[in-house]
Amino acid sequence: MSVDYLRVSVTDRCNLRCVYCNPRGDHGLRDRAGILDFDEIHRVVRLCAECGIRKVRLTGGEPLMCRNIADLVGRLAAVAGIEDLSLTTNGVSLGPMAAQLKAAGLKRVNISLDAMDRLCYQRMTGFDLLPQVLDGLHKALEVGLTPVRLNCVVMRDRNLSQVIPLAEMVLDLPLSVRFIEYCPTSRITGRADDYVPNAEVRRIIETRLGPLRSVTVPHAGGPALYFTIPKAPGAIGFISGRSSAFCDDCSRLRLSSDGKIKPCLHADRSYDVRGLLQNGAGDEAIRDLIRRVLREKSRYTRITSTAEDFLMQSIGG
Ligand code: SAM
Repeated sequence: MSVDYLRVSVTDRCNLRCVYCNPRGDHGLRDRAGILDFDEIHRVVRLCAECGIRKVRLTGGEPLMCRNIADLVGRLAAVAGIEDLSLTTNGVSLGPMAAQLKAAGLKRVNISLDAMDRLCYQRMTGFDLLPQVLDGLHKALEVGLTPVRLNCVVMRDRNLSQVIPLAEMVLDLPLSVRFIEYCPTSRITGRADDYVPNAEVRRIIETRLGPLRSVTVPHAGGPALYFTIPKAPGAIGFISGRSSAFCDDCSRLRLSSDGKIKPCLHADRSYDVRGLLQNGAGDEAIRDLIRRVLREKSRYTRITSTAEDFLMQSIGG
């Protein structure tokens, strides 16, 4: 599998307290001085592009909490070799920023949305902000940050009741609703037995909405499998990271907010690019490090990983 995709966590800060991610909010956060700045991110992305990276996704933490994020978008969109620039957001601040992000060169967004019921949304995220997220979603469609994809983490005792309301969005809107298997990542995230296999989520959907038919959607290079419902403008996706490891098809590297390149989300191994930046390394030394990660990536998979407690928020999910 050729590796051409970089996910960049631009901050480890977030304005939500999702039960599956960082319910305490401040758990494990870095001192701000330890976080890459925009110049450093731009340089690493430019050098990654010189080593074959073609797609970049900004994530976090919550990327829209970064002041002047549209400036970073504009700078990264102009990097030679980057063909696809996207962003993953919780959508809370997206409405007022969507047009500006589009104008800066952002191609599309993924929006995390785990409930259509306001109270359930509040219980999942800690805040009563569902209307703002729905506004962000509609603005994203309006300004053409498309294809829009929704990411829904399903937890048995928390939001299983939301599978149908979330899936039904594809009956009215041209977007993909993707169900993500909950992966307990640290001692503070929700209970491990809240995990629901996607086979069960699919059964729930098919029982109500009829059989799903496999389909190919644009920009579907990742681990999601997509399906349609007859006459629906949207699609349903499943990302089944726990029930079926997709390491052989993984084309991505991750740059954490504190400047580590990770060959695998679950890897206990990371490569310290920030150390090089801080020590005044030249471009060639940084390209050497990136090429080394690319060469060694296949050694690291979820199966070989021994990492037990990590913060999705600083790696970028
Ligand atoms: N703040 C942004 C957002 O909410 O989309 C970006 C960061 S968030 C860490 C990125 C993705 O990680 C989200 O789509 C979320 O669903 C996923 N995620 C976080 N913790 C997870 C967990 N324990 N299991 C599965 N997915 C998780």
